[in-house]
Amino acid sequence: MNADAEIIDAHVRSDAPRPVLSALEARDVSAWFGTHKVLERVSLTMEAGQVTALIGPSGCGKSTFLRILNRMHELVPLASLAGEVVLDGADIYDRTRKLTDARRHIGMVFQKPNPFPAMSIYDNVVAGLKLTGIRASRDEKDEVVERSLTSAGLWREVKDRLRQPGGGLSGGQQQRLCIARSLAVKPKVLLMDEPCSALDPTSTRVIEETMGELQKEVTIVIVTHNMQQAQRVSQKCAFFLASQGTPGGIVEHGDTDAMFSEPQDERTFDYVNGRF
Ligand code: ADP
Ligand code: MG
Repeated sequence: MNADAEIIDAHVRSDAPRPVLSALEARDVSAWFGTHKVLERVSLTMEAGQVTALIGPSGCGKSTFLRILNRMHELVPLASLAGEVVLDGADIYDRTRKLTDARRHIGMVFQKPNPFPAMSIYDNVVAGLKLTGIRASRDEKDEVVERSLTSAGLWREVKDRLRQPGGGLSGGQQQRLCIARSLAVKPKVLLMDEPCSALDPTSTRVIEETMGELQKEVTIVIVTHNMQQAQRVSQKCAFFLASQGTPGGIVEHGDTDAMFSEPQDERTFDYVNGRF
């Protein structure tokens, strides 16, 4: 194999040993857009191999927090932050580390499925490698595509039409294709910002089932407005709130079952019971 084509991260290969699952820890994270402070000293450990659900009303900073977790926040104009995000003992904001380092370990999926519509299903998955600077040989790409689509629960549906455009898939399939693209680099953490909000109930159910399998290989953080979904998919839950004029923060966090059955804070009780 020519050296140029050699894959940079050996762990991306299918035959690599299963990685040890990692926790992601936010420590005293505050965030601003210009002078507008939107998060105030948020600390949260997202446990290895678990699904953590972030819940709370619109505008309380959930998406901002998620973007901070993989260094996307710093790409937003006028955005700034304080605090640390620690993965495997190292701050992802350590300036000596490249942005692509964080991206290689922490993938993200958005509300609206955003595959490259004209690009083939195969190339959409491979794009996950390219976007983080990983090159691969043809054989390695084949492996990555099959492994990622399998983990995203899409392989069987698309294996005979990998050369067809990603944009031709249904909405739910497109979202699973985006999950596969994120999984191409074998991230340690997968961030999902309302991944099912644009999908029908059947597609939503398929993605939820996929997450149950996925959490065996990757730590998952999901933002959801769907309380039933939070209870179905997550083991841990954090309730965010921004009271009038104050920045967002976590009111309460803990085991999902306990948060829903016996919330400690009256505001959590009201929120999980649909009172605001
Ligand atoms: P959520 O995801 O919980 O709905 P967001 O993180 O999107 O909340 O927003 C938190 C706050 O930050 C809101 O007040 C929102 O208006 C503000 N905000 C979000 N994105 C930007 C941006 N790019 N520029 C300026 N303000 C923003
Ligand atoms: Mg949001």
